[in-house]
Amino acid sequence: ASLFGHVEPAPKDPILGVTEAFLADPSPDKVNVGVGAYRDDNGKPVVLECVREAERRIAGNLNMEYLPMGGSIKMIEESLKLAYGEDSEFIKDKRIAAVQALSGTGACRLFADFQRRFLPDSQMYIPTPTWSNHHNIWRDAQVPQRTFTYYHPESRGLDFAGLMDDIKNAPNRSFFLLHACAHNPTGVDPTEEQWREISYQFKIKNHFPFFDMAYQGFASGDPERDAKAIRIFLEDRHQIGCAQSYAKNMGLYGQRAGCLSILCEDEMQAVAVKSQLQQIARPMYSNPPVHGALVVSIILNDPELKSLWLKEVKGMADRIIGMRKALRENLESLGSPLSWDHITNQIGMFCYSGMTPEQVDRLTNEYHIYMTRNGRISMAGVTTGNVAYLANAIHEVTK
Ligand code: PLP
Repeated sequence: ASLFGHVEPAPKDPILGVTEAFLADPSPDKVNVGVGAYRDDNGKPVVLECVREAERRIAGNLNMEYLPMGGSIKMIEESLKLAYGEDSEFIKDKRIAAVQALSGTGACRLFADFQRRFLPDSQMYIPTPTWSNHHNIWRDAQVPQRTFTYYHPESRGLDFAGLMDDIKNAPNRSFFLLHACAHNPTGVDPTEEQWREISYQFKIKNHFPFFDMAYQGFASGDPERDAKAIRIFLEDRHQIGCAQSYAKNMGLYGQRAGCLSILCEDEMQAVAVKSQLQQIARPMYSNPPVHGALVVSIILNDPELKSLWLKEVKGMADRIIGMRKALRENLESLGSPLSWDHITNQIGMFCYSGMTPEQVDRLTNEYHIYMTRNGRISMAGVTTGNVAYLANAIHEVTK
């Protein structure tokens, strides 16, 4: 028998499969609102000006040596300031174990492997719904998964009561995966007040919050404001974990630039934890890539480039907010009797439209509009040029 004869094709990734289908469609009207990557108002990928400038500074000056096992020290330092705050006492006290990671996915996976190795009896509570890859990550790391209530389909908002119940009912010292801001796929975040209540309840239960922060800056346009949930937990003196990604907020998708950090009890613990994270990375990929890390640390280290970055993040967030407004207004002026308030209430890159898989299939088959079957619209793919076409198609299939 053939050696690999038993290998069946893997199921298509629900998100990446959408782009494949989009690319194969010859229609000139086609619209891709599937993938979570920012596009400008012409539907084109964007390289930020701050990134171009950082690359000009690197050009010709970079040697190709390995980074240390834990990655670029400078990049990690800057990342911690973004997440924990410029003047964080936890940074000063060296209580944070942090390593450069292969973007947000790699940071989550490294944490999941750490969890499996050092807390073998623990589980991970994951929100319903969530970014589909979260399930794959904790599955492959062999950490058992539980889910907790998050989204309320009728109101298309947060099921806060259900969420609080699940937090209370989980065994003490449970691990919870929280989206720090701009929840994917729902675009629904707790309010500041709700975050405070969540943090309070976590304290009572001794739960451990692991923040996946893939969209810092994309929710409000201001990375500092988008770190609010994490800062509330820090004020309440939790230990936390955090996965940071520069894919979206610096447009560094393919560079795989990210950071994993774990706030420990003291410096000694942090040193031990960091050394173990490096041990996990070593047999997988040895050390992380250098180029993206350098771009990030140059931008965040230079006041001028950093303020340019902040301006550009805000520009991306503002364009998306503008498109939310336009999509909603178009639907309303077409006379749709349904409520589309959630389009502008939800935040971040995605709109969880409430459309059924059958309605999404009609959008694709009849209108060449591509998106995941859970009804998630990537607002980054909506432009001045296609918003009316998209609204009309949505109106037709939801009549
Ligand atoms: N976490 C969430 C919630 C995401 O939506 C994404 C990307 O879509 C990621 C993590 C990781 O992205 P990356 O690995 O490209 O940083």
